Amino acid sequence: MGSLGISAFAVKPVFALENKMVKPVLLSTWDAGIAANKPAWEILKNKGRALDAVENGVMVTEASQNCCVGLGANPDRDGFVTLDASIMDEFGNCGSVAFLERIKHPVSVARRVMEKTPHVLLVGEGAQKFAVSEGFPLEPAELSEDAKKSYRDWLKQSRYQPVINIENKQHGPFAPSQINGEWNHDTIGMIALDMNGNLSGSCTTSGMGFKMRGRVGDSPIIGAGLYVDNEIGAAVSTGVGEEVIKICGTHLVVEFMRQGMTPEEACKKAVERIVKRNGAKAKDIQVAFIAINKQGEYGGYSIQKGFNYALCTPAINNQLINPKYLF
Ligand code: ASP
Repeated sequence: MGSLGISAFAVKPVFALENKMVKPVLLSTWDAGIAANKPAWEILKNKGRALDAVENGVMVTEASQNCCVGLGANPDRDGFVTLDASIMDEFGNCGSVAFLERIKHPVSVARRVMEKTPHVLLVGEGAQKFAVSEGFPLEPAELSEDAKKSYRDWLKQSRYQPVINIENKQHGPFAPSQINGEWNHDTIGMIALDMNGNLSGSCTTSGMGFKMRGRVGDSPIIGAGLYVDNEIGAAVSTGVGEEVIKICGTHLVVEFMRQGMTPEEACKKAVERIVKRNGAKAKDIQVAFIAINKQGEYGGYSIQKGFNYALCTPAINNQLINPKYLF
């Protein structure tokens, strides 16, 4: 955008010609995206639906015990893992679950909410009851070994303060757990454009480790953690959910793309909105967005260094991309 100003966006064509489209395209947040992209990309390559790709992709991460997404993740401050997830299709249908316990695949429950109920969001006990009625097994309540250790460490100080989720090694003891020498993240978001030119997205998380019991972040809030408009584009977020909710982050990214901004420009603008709201405090916050538009252009932007996303296109075979950042 630079010195061109907002008005320049209005004259850029939002839609490319059909033959200029790059497809399929798949993006997902953080390193865990590499494994998650594999089944999703198979679906897309075989002309499958973007919705199936984004569900099956993030299910890999939900099932991993070695990750801060899903039931292997860090608990809330009362010692329980509570999960949030959302999904959105090319028709603008969406479903989500929040504060869901003991269910392995919240993203699939979110899809059932979308497809089998007249509602968008089910929470807590009701979401769990619905999941069980749909045949999802109730998993044991026990924490994973890594989560037990992180929780024991956290209890030593049990500081009553939201975790500042800067995704780098300056976390201190209140960070997401460190497993096998690598920092892990609490969320995976995935967005895809399929061979039919349709967009979908998903987002699934254990939320911030050691959060207050009952806390729900941005991931299951449509327009905050995830948004898809099949005419324009799709976006998903990760980082401090409260900050994303306050600006309706992914809806904002999609609306910026509607004005003609590229996905990267749109993500940057949304990041700048959060930074402006927070002033000097923004240095302690990490939020990142990734986005894709209808032509198959993609991009991401974060507040802090250290965010990455995994990318598949016909020319790029599942690579980690380090997008630009503000600080
Ligand atoms: N956005 C998630 C939340 O606030 C956390 C994350 O992305 O790591 O629940």
